[in-house]
Amino acid sequence: MRPPALGMDPNPRFRTPSSRAEEVARIAGMQTIQDLLDGYRRFRLGRYGEQAQLYEKLARGQAPKIMLIGCVDSRADPSEIFATAPGELFTVRNVANLVPKYGTEGNLSGVGTALEFAVQNLGIRHIVVMGHGQCGGVHACLQGAESAGGFLGPWVAQLVGLREEVLAKQPSDSQYAMELAGVRHSLANLVTYPFVKQALDQGSLELHGAWFSIGEGELSWLAEPAGEFEIISH
Ligand SMILES: [Zn+2]
Repeated sequence: MRPPALGMDPNPRFRTPSSRAEEVARIAGMQTIQDLLDGYRRFRLGRYGEQAQLYEKLARGQAPKIMLIGCVDSRADPSEIFATAPGELFTVRNVANLVPKYGTEGNLSGVGTALEFAVQNLGIRHIVVMGHGQCGGVHACLQGAESAGGFLGPWVAQLVGLREEVLAKQPSDSQYAMELAGVRHSLANLVTYPFVKQALDQGSLELHGAWFSIGEGELSWLAEPAGEFEIISH
């Protein structure tokens, strides 16, 4: 039998929860595939062991009521920020948490496919678009990366019109202003999807926005697309 990973009690019932500092040190140490597989072993012995019955139930189907569209950034992990359990959050992540306008990607759209499944099959009740501080995708757009070609150029080109609007207001922090505006932009584009519009009109779906401050761990919440961002007290 394989020995447990260093420092791990093989029986999760007797394992003390790690402190946040230990967690951060461990994450910073995740450099190799071996580290990744050690992480899996910690999961299998720890969190999975604690939630085995939940996973067994989830194997029979998922019924999340909330969809989150976030950024790929490794520092803005939705399930971590909202402390969700498996099966609770239907998530799409891409560069700069963008929702392309309906039809612009044709039928080969990752966001469109996930949205369609979430709204039409899962009966999702809430969609949250979450931006975050120090977003590399937003920064690239501010640097004019639309001319970079490749995949990044056309992707961030979706924000060029918005960039001009935001910069025309001469914000004190253009990166932050763009990050918030980008959330509103994606929320507006969600409504261009006919099945999203229909669910909104029927009152079976609500849209919300959020912005996560990585350094402070603060969440700004946009209760409805036409509202204002407000910091959630903690
Ligand atoms: Zn980002």
